[in-house]
Amino acid sequence: REQILRNGLKENFADVQVSVVECPDLTHDPFNFPVKGICGKPRIADVGGVPYLVPLVQKDKVYDLNTVAKQIELPGAFILGAGAGSSRILGVNAELIPVAQAESEQKPAVNASYTAQINPADGGCLLEKYSNKYSDCEFGLLANLYASQGQPGKVIEVKANGRTGRHNFVTCMRQIIEKCYGDKPVGIGGTFVIQKGKAKIHIMPPEFSACPINTDEEMNNWLHFFEMKAPLICQPVLISRDPGFDLRMEHTHCFSHHGEGGHYHNDSTPDCVQYLGYFLPAEVLFRIDRPKESHRVGRD
Ligand SMILES: [Zn+2]
Repeated sequence: REQILRNGLKENFADVQVSVVECPDLTHDPFNFPVKGICGKPRIADVGGVPYLVPLVQKDKVYDLNTVAKQIELPGAFILGAGAGSSRILGVNAELIPVAQAESEQKPAVNASYTAQINPADGGCLLEKYSNKYSDCEFGLLANLYASQGQPGKVIEVKANGRTGRHNFVTCMRQIIEKCYGDKPVGIGGTFVIQKGKAKIHIMPPEFSACPINTDEEMNNWLHFFEMKAPLICQPVLISRDPGFDLRMEHTHCFSHHGEGGHYHNDSTPDCVQYLGYFLPAEVLFRIDRPKESHRVGRD
């Protein structure tokens, strides 16, 4: 399996290494996660969806990471991924970069998530630690989450330097896995660091769109795009194939320690980019509050 990933990535990156290693201690820099690893009962949750954001927002769509942890039968789960902030709490629309250990009977929640929003002062990125202002675990509209017991253990380490292909790091891995496993859906989550280079990142505007957004072009005109610099710590959730649950195939949000973060599209410096990631396939997928009416807009 490592060979398949290695060979596939070599078609898209100049220099690739794939190996199974002990998960590094993720309480250390640059991750600073509240738990050591991403192992133990790995699972994926796809909550809500883009149809709750566009064509017009449904502000009543609010969720809680603690509740999700119970729904996926893993109270106390360590959760990483990509979602939207709760506009009810934040007062604005924002990107959420979930990094949280949900509450359990033994322990209250540790919410180390970040929010990325448009800075009203200068239109730039405003990245904040969620727990600096809030003590809940709420989010809104949609999230793609990778959950585990947060334990140490064996993970797949991927190093990929110098992008030669067109697709981003996550899409490349997803396509390799789809090609290998065909109809069988394989979901993967974890964390990777863009160690060198810059990346194209979007942040949603603070106000939801008053006029309906019906196309990808309208969506892209609505979003704010930035070029952000490494190191960026990214939380991907990907699934190779949708077995008919209206899933988001991939979704990656990132944070940094220099005030930048948001939704990852691709690196913008293919020649010098360096990726280092730790991944694990999920054992189970949960689809929570699937929209009854759906569309394909805004899934990049
Ligand atoms: Zn996103």
